[in-house]
Amino acid sequence: MEDKLNILFTRDEIATTVERLAAEIRRDYLTKHPVLLAVLKGSFIFLADLIRQLDFPLEIEFVRLSSYGKGTESSGRVKMAPGALSKIRGRHVLVVEDIIDTGLTAAFLLDYLRRKKPASLKLCSLTDKPERRRVMVNIDYRGLTVPDKFIVGYGIDCDERYRHLPDIYVVEQ
Ligand code: 5GP
Repeated sequence: MEDKLNILFTRDEIATTVERLAAEIRRDYLTKHPVLLAVLKGSFIFLADLIRQLDFPLEIEFVRLSSYGKGTESSGRVKMAPGALSKIRGRHVLVVEDIIDTGLTAAFLLDYLRRKKPASLKLCSLTDKPERRRVMVNIDYRGLTVPDKFIVGYGIDCDERYRHLPDIYVVEQ
């Protein structure tokens, strides 16, 4: 059965938000040569748009969380690209996420990274779904607030579908 998709944020609204976040990040990281650590897979389009607005030295790395329990709760391990861990210690690390929902994934990842002794550790998320939060997570660079609905598009999928859509939609159940 086809899902019914209702537009939530247009590509223009997303672009304006990415510009704002990039300006905030630029102000704080201009001379810090940060590592932007993007959480796969949902944040890859956001990261691509974000770094094209950042005109100063930075590095990117990717991380993937595995062993998801049922649904979307991350219970599991962190998988980094080979060599990525050596980029964390002593560096200014900015985690780039697509969605903070319950907060469990970000809390788990930030806790894991903190133990690798970065010089600083902050969180940027394109979207925030505060109604469903189960653990407190401080979002240093916060994009769009989303309602308690399931969203897709702009890199964010539903069973690998809809990532390619340039706008963000709510999937009506
Ligand atoms: P958490 O609940 O741990 O904060 O979020 C974990 C992950 O659940 C997110 O990174 C994202 O992959 C997924 N997720 C949460 N809400 C949504 C949503 O509305 N749409 C999609 N496609 N994934 C979501």
